[in-house]
Amino acid sequence: MTSDGAREGWRFWSVRDGQLVSPFTGDVLPLDGVAVATCIHETPNPTCECGIAYYQDKADVLKASKTLCDPGIAITLGEVTGPTYADWRAPRYQVQDSRHGFSVSRWVTLPTGLRAHAYQVTAIYTNNTITTDYGVPVHPRADIHV
Ligand SMILES: [Zn+2]
Repeated sequence: MTSDGAREGWRFWSVRDGQLVSPFTGDVLPLDGVAVATCIHETPNPTCECGIAYYQDKADVLKASKTLCDPGIAITLGEVTGPTYADWRAPRYQVQDSRHGFSVSRWVTLPTGLRAHAYQVTAIYTNNTITTDYGVPVHPRADIHV
């Protein structure tokens, strides 16, 4: 567990109907741009899987984005609050590919991230169209520099 202050974090999202959507839970990001973890106890919890997943390092979110091979993905910079724990749900995910007119699923391994109580989006990087006004700047995906 790390300290309680606010700190920087990176996430990737699916874009659906111009909104940011958590790619694995399907949760839509609320208009205030803050994703908050809810569970039966305070979140996150070392004995549970709950918490908002994020990466501390930009290199990890870029690697995850490349591995997922999804041109419609959005990456966000944000502010993480609350205690954080390692995300032991990572790193294996099953994803759908439908690039050739049919859909296949494959397993991918993503970098291991962290999970926090809350994540406030402060900037969005995507080549997809965001029509929801989260009150934060939207940049082209290429504006993230390694
Ligand atoms: Zn929990």
